Amino acid sequence: MTVTTSTSSGNSTWNWRVAARCRTDDGDGLFVSGAAQREVRGFCSACPVRTECLAYALDEQIEFGIWGGATERERRAMLRARPNVRSWAGLLAEARLAHYTAEAASIRAAAAAAEEVATEVRATPVDADVMG
Ligand code: SF4
Repeated sequence: MTVTTSTSSGNSTWNWRVAARCRTDDGDGLFVSGAAQREVRGFCSACPVRTECLAYALDEQIEFGIWGGATERERRAMLRARPNVRSWAGLLAEARLAHYTAEAASIRAAAAAAEEVATEVRATPVDADVMG
């Protein structure tokens, strides 16, 4: 699949399509139907813009093919499950921000704990016998 059109969804200032795996690799296999979709969707698992692609397909209500690693049936289920979502791009961006914010807080806490241990070790008198 080669994606060349511009999106009307989301507020991203960069064009995610330039990083799409299917732009450079053979993505034509993503346009299969029925059960074959479950077999080929793994192609998207290595795509760096999988979330953006899925959000685009949901916002535009694209009915055919694999988008963001999701089959047509899966995307229909997502749309049915969240009928009040006006912008999937916005929703997924918020979820990503929350995830990385929580991850950053966790990393900061771990770094603080490590620094605390290091401070304790530095403050511990060195046994003269150990130093020789
Ligand atoms: S997630 Fe799949 S369909 Fe979407 S851009 Fe990436 S490779 Fe293409």
